[in-house]
Amino acid sequence: MVVGQAIREGAQRLSATSETARLDAELLMAHALGMSRSEMLLRHMQDEAPDTFATLIDRRAAYEPVAYIIGTQEFLGRSFAVSPAVLIPRSDSESVVLAALQSAPDARSVLDLGTGSGALLLSLLAESPEAKGTGIDASEAALEIASSNAARLGVSERATLLERDWTKHDWREGLGRFDLVIANPPYVETHAELDRDVRDFEPQCALFAGEDGLDDYRIIIPQLPNLLAPGGVAVLEIGALQARAVSALAESQGFRVETHHDLAKRDRALVLRQRAW
Ligand code: GLN
Repeated sequence: MVVGQAIREGAQRLSATSETARLDAELLMAHALGMSRSEMLLRHMQDEAPDTFATLIDRRAAYEPVAYIIGTQEFLGRSFAVSPAVLIPRSDSESVVLAALQSAPDARSVLDLGTGSGALLLSLLAESPEAKGTGIDASEAALEIASSNAARLGVSERATLLERDWTKHDWREGLGRFDLVIANPPYVETHAELDRDVRDFEPQCALFAGEDGLDDYRIIIPQLPNLLAPGGVAVLEIGALQARAVSALAESQGFRVETHHDLAKRDRALVLRQRAW
């Protein structure tokens, strides 16, 4: 069977599992062929389809996310390595990076809390050649992925990656202060219903944050005044319905808060500024 036909049949099989069945099938086929999706679509649709494609479709049909199957995910136009140790970078989070670039364009030092794959921090470093960054994470396996992504993007010399857990009392030791602090902390309510591919495959520790999804903001926000340099800005990703609750936490620590939207026009990022500035 040729590539084009195999993709059509693969997409058909995935239609019950995925809202992006056709795209998924194309990405899996491109991976099986060892080429980019565009190269495949432009020049290889009449080639003989590789046997390995069927196995990839089987995995996706069992709800495994495409990004974990192929080992990469695009984020703001760059390709990041991912594994089940890290949350898959989402297009929602692109708006967090854009809000950070807009709100703190001259930031020279950046701290990313819960860096995971490093998608947020490393995108910022790639866009800001003068900036240095520190990414912390409680997971050593995640930090290995972040480190490989720093090398992929050519920013290793400007990125420091540290194993730190903000539920431990001494996690800030030696970190210093930063012009910009960013975070996409866990913010899903413990009992929320998630899609199967998220719930069964992505790291629970990166998703869930207590009954109301706010546990990690309650820990992080009161410590921001000790992490920000004078005039520093914090940009936090939030769940679509959390803007009011998280703003209230930030205001109680003396921050002025601005809300930014994602592509779907949902509240997605809060920009926190110290009142004196
Ligand atoms: N946006 C993610 C989801 O809904 C959650 C990310 C997070 O908790 N930081 O699956």
